Amino acid sequence: MALIVQKFGGTSVGTVERIEQVAEKVKKFREGGDDIVVVVSAMSGETNRLIDLAKQISEQPVPRELDVMVSTGEQVTIALLAMALIKRGVPAVSYTGNQVRILTDSAHNKARILQIDDQKIRADLKAGRVVVVAGFQGVDEHGNITTLGRGGSDTTGVALAAALKADECQIYTDVDGVYTTDPRVVPQAQRLDKITFEEMLEMASLGSKVLQIRSVEFAGKYNVPLRVLHSFQEGPGTLITLDEEESMEQPIISGIAFNRDEAKLTIRGVPDIPGVAFKILGPISAANIEVDMIVQNVAHDNTTDFTFTVHRNDYQNAQRVLEQTASELGAREVIGDTKIAKVSIVGVGMRSHAGVASRMFEALAKETINIQMISTSEIKVSVVIEEKYLELAVRALHTAFELDAPTRQGE
Ligand code: ASP
Ligand code: MG
Repeated sequence: MALIVQKFGGTSVGTVERIEQVAEKVKKFREGGDDIVVVVSAMSGETNRLIDLAKQISEQPVPRELDVMVSTGEQVTIALLAMALIKRGVPAVSYTGNQVRILTDSAHNKARILQIDDQKIRADLKAGRVVVVAGFQGVDEHGNITTLGRGGSDTTGVALAAALKADECQIYTDVDGVYTTDPRVVPQAQRLDKITFEEMLEMASLGSKVLQIRSVEFAGKYNVPLRVLHSFQEGPGTLITLDEEESMEQPIISGIAFNRDEAKLTIRGVPDIPGVAFKILGPISAANIEVDMIVQNVAHDNTTDFTFTVHRNDYQNAQRVLEQTASELGAREVIGDTKIAKVSIVGVGMRSHAGVASRMFEALAKETINIQMISTSEIKVSVVIEEKYLELAVRALHTAFELDAPTRQGE
């Protein structure tokens, strides 16, 4: 008999009918003999609706009060699901984060889980009940309601699975797994049976918005096997685990990630002396702007060009800060470009294979796509290219690394 934590997202509990469907699903698992803890989000759109209400009172609502309010979304769905289970003859009980005692720090609207009291849940499971827990919320040491940040129910699910040493944490959502890339860009994208936490983090942070990033970090840290599944379709989903496949069959690249959210800034003709990188990036980080890729050119005539990327939302701010730095350093000019995109190949297989980057560059060269910046890590190679070539690049790489789904005869 296994202990499984099942998390259902907002669209999966978006209507009463859907909640009834979720109850049917949970009932089947329960009848199979497993112990089940269910974590639910608020009905889809509800958290946004609540935040909008608060903003009608004040543009910047008091964080503590905002948490008191937005946490109500999940309180509704836990009760509805417990009712739907009980109606079906499945003993069930719902708890808010406070009732379980999901202890967090006091950082309202973005709290971190510190500890989970598993006593109550264990007693209920022992008594044969399905336990339904509100996602996204906790309580701090002073008894204040806290929330974990948007999409935080995933983290609640994983944290509960870790605390209960569950056999698996299943994340039910509106896609049937994690794909080699976005199927809207590459129709031949395939569902992955398995992916490692590390790869998933790269895929997630690069734009595959299947799971909240923090929940993947958490799962990796506590080695909680995570599975992404479709709420209302049968299928094995994608398992996210620690272990890397040793087999020769394993593809070198697991997926192609991309993102259009970045912008590029270059400061040209800065003196090539020690401390310059710090003088350029110090004020950027002091302005709370995160830098992603960085490139510094080889110096000639004792000056150098320095280029980096930031989130597009930070572009104007970063440009202003950089102009200031440029005049202080006596740099030639500041130029920028917002029409860029980042494409990355991700795979733990890279560790044991040479020539992966050059294969990537070859595929892009064949499509005459110019590479503006490159960065690499142990399991990832990223390039910045002109935004208008993004989809072409993703398709070319997907094919070059043999990720396209095989087409059946006659298709
Ligand atoms: N209801 C919260 C949100 O919309 C938490 C979640 O859905 O995971 O962000
Ligand atoms: Mg959600």
